[in-house]
Amino acid sequence: MQLQPSSEIFEKILYNNRKNNLPEIDVSPTQGKFLSMLAKIKGAKNILEIGTLGGYSTIWLAQALPEDGSLITLEFNPAHVKVAQENIKMAGVEDKVTIIEGSALDTLPTLHHKQAEGFDFIFIDADKPNNPHYIKWVLQLASPGALIIADNVVRDGKVVNEDSEDANIQGIREFIDILSSDTRIDSVGIQTVGLKGYDGFIISRVK
Ligand code: SAM
Repeated sequence: MQLQPSSEIFEKILYNNRKNNLPEIDVSPTQGKFLSMLAKIKGAKNILEIGTLGGYSTIWLAQALPEDGSLITLEFNPAHVKVAQENIKMAGVEDKVTIIEGSALDTLPTLHHKQAEGFDFIFIDADKPNNPHYIKWVLQLASPGALIIADNVVRDGKVVNEDSEDANIQGIREFIDILSSDTRIDSVGIQTVGLKGYDGFIISRVK
């Protein structure tokens, strides 16, 4: 009895990531399916992802899109972009996915022109110290009712430590402060435990 049978394509993607020495910091299979379920429930058509790595979460999300849906994913490491391109092709979702190479803070401002309707589903999963900057851009790029998901917001519970000197923790803390004070969004934190340890997602809905 399995809610999520293992999938040959996702195993091949993870194998290709390892073969190319990508760090194993992609979402877990359960988290990938969770993201995909959320995108389907939302009926997402225009997805934005910040942080591609080898495209593992990208592919879960792209599989949730309808025929005319599209996904833009932002990645600054050329080696990651190359592997993601291979994986996206292997999964057969290359017609729906565009990878934009560059630092997300440079590429986010170009997206208004590429997606005039706005994005209805956004996954933030890159360098955590920049989350406070990402959310400001994302709020400008999101359509009304959009879902914004951010990963790694619990970090073994360390995120409650206000004195932490870890830039990742401080980035997430500042991100949460912005979410809790901005009246344009409503958010909830969900803790997760499993293959990737003890962590969590924040799910926000743009009003
Ligand atoms: N979402 C991916 C998945 O689950 O398969 C994992 C993404 S990994 C946690 C973070 C990625 O963000 C890395 O590939 C890293 O190179 C990229 N990244 C880090 N800082 C970035 C930046 N400033 N701009 C764009 N990409 C960045």
